[in-house]
Order: sequence, then structure tokens, then C-alpha cells
Amino acid sequence: MFSAFLIKYAEIGVKGKNKYLFEEALVQQIKYALKRCEGEFKVTRTDGRIYVHALSEFDYDETVDNLKTVFGISGICPVIHVEDEGYEKLAQKLVEYVDKVYEDKNITFKVHARRARKNYPMNSMELNMELGGAVLDAFPEMKVDVHHPDVMLHVEIREKIYIYSIEIPGPGGMPVGSNGKAMLLLSGGIDSPVAGYMIAKRGVKIDAVYFHAPPYTSDRAKQKVIDLAKLVSRYAGPVYLHIINFTDIQLYIYEKCPHEELTIIMRRYMMKIAERIARENECLGLITGESIGQVASQTVQSLAVTNEVCTLPVFRPLIGFDKMEIVDVSEKIGTYETSILPYEDCCTIFVAKHPVTKPNLNIIKRHEQNLEEKIEELMQKALDTDELVIARW
Ligand code: ATP
Ligand code: MG
Repeated sequence: MFSAFLIKYAEIGVKGKNKYLFEEALVQQIKYALKRCEGEFKVTRTDGRIYVHALSEFDYDETVDNLKTVFGISGICPVIHVEDEGYEKLAQKLVEYVDKVYEDKNITFKVHARRARKNYPMNSMELNMELGGAVLDAFPEMKVDVHHPDVMLHVEIREKIYIYSIEIPGPGGMPVGSNGKAMLLLSGGIDSPVAGYMIAKRGVKIDAVYFHAPPYTSDRAKQKVIDLAKLVSRYAGPVYLHIINFTDIQLYIYEKCPHEELTIIMRRYMMKIAERIARENECLGLITGESIGQVASQTVQSLAVTNEVCTLPVFRPLIGFDKMEIVDVSEKIGTYETSILPYEDCCTIFVAKHPVTKPNLNIIKRHEQNLEEKIEELMQKALDTDELVIARW
């Protein structure tokens, strides 16, 4: 029965020139989400309102589900269109609408009419009164409540007339593309896909980098990360995933540095390489799934030592989250099932029994001097292995 959706978005931070960029990015992301839906649609922007018009038959549930993945949308309102054929016809259509949408008529309501076209013969006050009366006549069980109605019947008079009353919550946030781009360090775990999701939710476009260590890590582990990037792209738009062969660096560190420091030193080189790729791709920050205290390499001391190699800001949206809270988000966004598949990740192969939990930066730097001879060359070689996969939902 519905023929369009009115898209509501939060106005906060959407002022002046930003408003245009925000709406433009929102329309782009809506189109991206609609591409995967059955049916043809047109997205329009008029007087600060975004509408999705169905141009053909479409699957209502599928369309709503996909619109729910678009950051920046605060509400999705299914709309019916009515031709302007005079007041009587409008009242009749409104009554039919109420009858279809609200099976149980034991509800309170209010009519909220808006005349975007001032040449309509009745003003909004008159429309509210008259249409309210028509609904009451048709369904005497319904009651008017002007302060806290169960149902707000919106009637918008434009070229056509729009009726809507349902608002399905959107994901909130800001449209991807309205806030620059950052590089996500994406592993096969639970945390980093969630971290990417959360930063994308603030409007940041996401590129990603994954370090693998063949033959110590398998093709299945790599495919799992590609799959996770795809799942993130459902919300974040296409993700350019750089896959970097990290084996030689890992082996070199293993050979030259104390084993309890392997993970932390490895993390520092991952950050360094990620930062180089970030700069080449106009990313303004790095994103990780780190959370204070989760593992030895994420104590406050370890985070400080890892962070020391970075000059770009590092966004760690999960920093204060407990594991359970992270799991909740990953289940909600649909990455959990893939994340818990058991394929080994490059960090777990060489892990020491007792990794340092309070690394000292000076000592770490001293041990990194053991790497001086070959590390620059190995980093360059690793960068040359860059395999780009564009992950799309
Ligand atoms: P995750 O669940 O995201 O794998 P984790 O709990 O396993 O995190 P670590 O392995 O210490 O934690 O990694 C911390 C962060 O470092 C990850 O969230 C991710 O951002 C990044 N990271 C770790 N391993 C890799 C990798 N192989 N490739 C890219 N990034 C990685
Ligand atoms: Mg991990």
C-alpha cells in the first residue's frame, strides 16, 4: 500500500554549507542501500526533506531493512500518496489509511496537517479540525489527544498529498562520506569490525588493512577477513581492503627480539605500515578494535608503546567497552558469526607464553635496534605485496 518513504535525519551539526554536504552524502548512501533491493526507486530532496519514491513494485520489509543500514537516518516513515481531488476525497483516503494501518482502533490520535502549497483552499488548522472529525465519525472508538497521541496522522499538502504516521527508527549517526576517511586495521576477530562500524557511524568513510602471514595463516583466514569487510560495507559502503604479507617482518622480529616482546613490537610495525598506506590513500586517521586491558598488548602501557609510532590520530572506539558489550554490537550488526570462525590469525601463531604487559618504551626501542639492518627494506617489500580487494555488500 505504501508508495514512498519520508527519510528523517537529525539536524544537529547540519548547518550552513555542511547541511548540503550532509544531505548529498545521505542521498548517495540511500541509493547504495537501495541498489540491493528488489524494485526501482527514485530519491528526491525537496525543501529539506528526503523522499524515497517507489517506481515499481517493491518488497516493503527488504526495503526498510536496507534503509536501516544507512547512517544519518533517524527515522523511516512509510508514506502513501493521494492525488489532490478535493477535500472529500482526501478525508475518505485518510479514513481508509487509518483503517488499514491500525487494526485495533482503541487508540488516541491527532491530525497534523501541513500546507507546503499555500494555494490549497483550507489552511492547516481547518484541515486538522475537519480531518480529525472525519476520523472520529468513521471510528467512534478512537479518541483525540492533542498532547500525547498514540498516533500522529501527518497530512502534507504538496503537488500530491502525503499521508504518514509510522516512524521506524533508523540507525542514527551521520552519513558515510560526510566526515573524511580513516584506515581500519581489520583482523579476523570480534573487535575490529565493530570498531569500523562505529567510526563509519560518525560519517567516516572506511578503508581497511589486513596483515596476513602465509603459510602460517591460511587462505581461509584471509577469506574470513574479506567476508568481514563485506559485512562492514553493508553499513560503511564499499571498503577498499589492503592485504599485506607480514610474514617476513614477523619472522625477522621473532629472530632478533625477545619473544615476550614479539607481539608489542609487531603491533608497532603494523601501525607504521598501516599509517603509510593511510597517507597514500588520503586517510586522516587509523582505527583499531583495542580496548583497555583486554589482552597483554592492550594494557595502558602497551597501548602507549604502540601509539608512539603513530603520527596520525588513532581512533579506538571500543576503548572503554567490556567484551560483552562489544559482542552485543557484533551480534546486532551481523559480524559475530563470522568473527568466531576458528581460523588462526597472524598474531596468535608466534605468541609467547608470557608476553610483557607493562612494556617500557626505552627497552622496546633498544631491542628494535636489532632490526635496523633489514627492517626498512622488509617494510617496503611488505608494502609491495599490497593486494587490493574491494569489499561490497
Ligand atoms: P580483534 O578482535 O579485532 O582481532 P583482538 O582482541 O584480537 O582484536 P589484538 O589481536 O590485540 O586484539 O589486536 C588489536 C587490534 O589490532 C585489532 O582490533 C585490530 O584493529 C588490529 N589488528 C590485530 N591483528 C591484525 C591483523 N592481522 N591485521 C590488521 N589489524 C590487526
Ligand atoms: Mg585479533
